[in-house]
Amino acid sequence: MNGTGTNPTHPVLVVGSGPTGLLLAGDLAAAGVPVTLVEKRPHEISNLSRAFGVHARTLEQLDARDLADELLATGSTITELRLFRRLSLDLGTLPSRFPFLLITPQYEVERLLERRARELGVEFRHESEVVGLRQDDSGVDLDVRGPDGEVVTHRAAYVVGADGHRSAVRRAVGQPFPGVSVIKSLFLADVRLAERPDSVLTVNGAGDAFAMIVAFGDGWYRVMGWNRRHEVPDDAPLALDEVKEVTRRALGTDYGMRDARWLSRFHSDERQAPEYRVGRVLLAGDAAHVHSPAGGQGMNTGLQDAANLGWKLAAVVKGRSPESLLDTYQAERHPVGEAVLRSSGGLVRLARARNPALRAVRALVSAFVNAARPAQAKALAQISGIGYRYAAPRGSHRLVGTRVPDVPLEGGRLYEALRGGRFVLITPKAAEVSSDQGSREDRLSVERWASDRRTTVLVRPDGYVAWAADGVDTRAVWAALAAHVG
Ligand SMILES: Cc1cc2nc3c(=O)[nH]c(=O)nc-3n(C[C@H](O)[C@H](O)[C@H](O)COP(=O)(O)OP(=O)(O)OC[C@H]3O[C@@H](n4cnc5c(N)ncnc54)[C@H](O)[C@@H]3O)c2cc1C
Repeated sequence: MNGTGTNPTHPVLVVGSGPTGLLLAGDLAAAGVPVTLVEKRPHEISNLSRAFGVHARTLEQLDARDLADELLATGSTITELRLFRRLSLDLGTLPSRFPFLLITPQYEVERLLERRARELGVEFRHESEVVGLRQDDSGVDLDVRGPDGEVVTHRAAYVVGADGHRSAVRRAVGQPFPGVSVIKSLFLADVRLAERPDSVLTVNGAGDAFAMIVAFGDGWYRVMGWNRRHEVPDDAPLALDEVKEVTRRALGTDYGMRDARWLSRFHSDERQAPEYRVGRVLLAGDAAHVHSPAGGQGMNTGLQDAANLGWKLAAVVKGRSPESLLDTYQAERHPVGEAVLRSSGGLVRLARARNPALRAVRALVSAFVNAARPAQAKALAQISGIGYRYAAPRGSHRLVGTRVPDVPLEGGRLYEALRGGRFVLITPKAAEVSSDQGSREDRLSVERWASDRRTTVLVRPDGYVAWAADGVDTRAVWAALAAHVG
């Protein structure tokens, strides 16, 4: 569709103000890139929430933006995840500043990210729906239908589609979204309860019924469940009585459920776009991948996509890095999306297992993970997001591509140092890396280990190692800075 008018070129247009688009737009603005966020919904923060679990790696990313403590105050934390009745994962052992799962509604995450984005100067355009897109070598034309129904074409150097699982941007660049439906019929209800469950998260499956109740901490509870005897389309009516009945079958009681403020059905797909980058158009969050809600990975994975893409896109737009840096977004995030699809899909298949062989596998997996520390640590690292590492070029130092934990530095801690959205070079205490920092001050901070560590590490703005060396070789440090920081 051709627009009826053309606006001047924007450096970046982000489509969709869900968690992914909000974090990305904020990061670009923080890096000094003017960014406009296009959202088809009117401006209102909904109190209806899809996601409710924020994992350790996401909290680390929010800490690097000084938002973690504020988010923590909105919810409650749990340190044990119970799956399939027998399998228990102890989040308290996670090697992170945040050894737990934070239960808080998605709208709290969005509220904080939106406030940050506005404070940093992101321009919001609500009631603006993307209806078409074309690109050439120098930019992208985005057709946007505004509140008055008129379609206007906006030109941008880059467009990011963070517009959810039905992404118009993904369709416009011709990316397929292959995959399958994993759960045909799930229900959701936000309710009040007369009796309080013993724990923040209560979950069980019995026979054909499955139910999970999560306490948001503000008097509202999320109930999610399925009933294999009653698999219906998403638009079939849902009454609170059905939610109560399935909950009683799965959990033995409905806790005196009442006052539903939201009742909805949905189905859960497992799909992934083959390419997260098509020329000047990038896909992130649910627009790039969707999976079952098991493990609570969706919003978390989208936020990690945004954290990975933001600094790279800023560096390319500002002319400090070649466009090829954007290919590393696909190389790093596509495999993570694939792994999340596999693990969340596996969890659902085991949870729904009916045939005796699969049930035996489930019992074996549970017993093994409960008993074997390395298996438990691996499962935890994956669910919490702290276990992912990115591929490193051949011959790199062993640390390259790994996540850096919140290590103490002489003047504070790493995730405080990352708050400027800059690279952080950490050197041994005695090292004399008196830098030419002056010219790189806006994108590099030089710090020293608080301990006697002898390694020199260059940390990317998203908290992964860009380059490392044992000891300090000043010439090698300069070369690394030139290659990575520009
Ligand atoms: C029941 C349920 C429970 C879940 N629980 C969890 C959990 O515990 N943890 C977790 O991590 N994830 C969970 N998820 C998944 C999570 O909600 C999503 O992964 C997350 O919302 C994706 O964020 P996003 O920003 O990528 O996309 P979205 O949140 O879908 O945002 C996309 C935005 O784009 C806008 N948009 C769409 N089309 C256009 C267009 N053409 N033009 C302009 N704007 C457009 C939409 O209005 C929307 O605001 C759950 C999902 C469900 C359904």
